[in-house]
Amino acid sequence: MLLKATVTRKGAVLLGKHVACDAFDETRPLRVVTHAHSDHMLGLRQSLKQCEAAVMTPATKDLIDAIKGPRFLLTGNVKTLDYREALPYEDERLTLHYADHILGTAQVLVEDGDGTRILYTSDFRISRTPVVEADVLVLEATYGNPYRVRPFGIMAEGILVSLVEQGLKRGPVYVFGYHGKLQEIMRILYEAKVKVPFVVPEKVFQVSKVCERHGMRVGRRLLLFSDEGAQSMLCQREPCVVFYHTSSRGKVGKEGLRIYASGWQFVKPWQKIGEGEYRVALSGHSDFNELLYYVEKCRPKIVMTDNHRSGDAFVLAREIEKRLNIPARPVPS
Ligand SMILES: [Zn+2]
Repeated sequence: MLLKATVTRKGAVLLGKHVACDAFDETRPLRVVTHAHSDHMLGLRQSLKQCEAAVMTPATKDLIDAIKGPRFLLTGNVKTLDYREALPYEDERLTLHYADHILGTAQVLVEDGDGTRILYTSDFRISRTPVVEADVLVLEATYGNPYRVRPFGIMAEGILVSLVEQGLKRGPVYVFGYHGKLQEIMRILYEAKVKVPFVVPEKVFQVSKVCERHGMRVGRRLLLFSDEGAQSMLCQREPCVVFYHTSSRGKVGKEGLRIYASGWQFVKPWQKIGEGEYRVALSGHSDFNELLYYVEKCRPKIVMTDNHRSGDAFVLAREIEKRLNIPARPVPS
């Protein structure tokens, strides 16, 4: 049972005999990309060159096309799989299952010839993620520490809206976050009927277009550098919401209110971190209690906590053993 899943030092989550998720592994013919965040696209160029197929949901493929350019995936054989559609490979069977994280995110299930169910959750928020039952579970460990609990739930969404509305009274509001998260914020503001234009740089624009194509409602957007309307709006400090990838944080937006979407915010749903600067708790990950809830419902015989990506894999494994009495270990150890 132990050898049916592991995580390599390069971050590949190996399931069964043929599948490597989220990083390249030279021994595996199938590479799965669970979602389009960079720590889950490790070694993808190499996988495209050397694997028989790179497997992902259609939405993840579209997001990678938008983030890395449409030619990137053409260097390999990409196989898109809808949720619950099966891909047999020799004596194993691979299926992707919905996970609430960013558009296109999938949990990965491999059922092997012995009937063992081997599952990797990837990143997920518990609220809308279905629990998939499995014998062997590889679990994300981002908030694997008992201190990482959020008592305030989705209250942060309402706070985000009112912070934005307050800021708009004085001019532009800048929002910083990762791809996928920014589009979720657009959806929240759009649904809250924040009527001002959204101004976005090219890549954020492309990613939003993909989200829209896959059914998300993200509001009207103006392109930051090629739309004259957007330029003059910013020059005149007219109310609008400007969306930037987290990597631009600190470089732009000094003249407006700045809001950072962050998962690392636990005590309060929001925090003032400087003059005109706020951090709002909008996380795409389950907190500690929710991770434990998932394990309980999944009913695995053994759990491996992902110790490659940032988080608390050691503590989480220990707490799963202690509280649920299920053998658990961090991998790589
Ligand atoms: Zn992620």
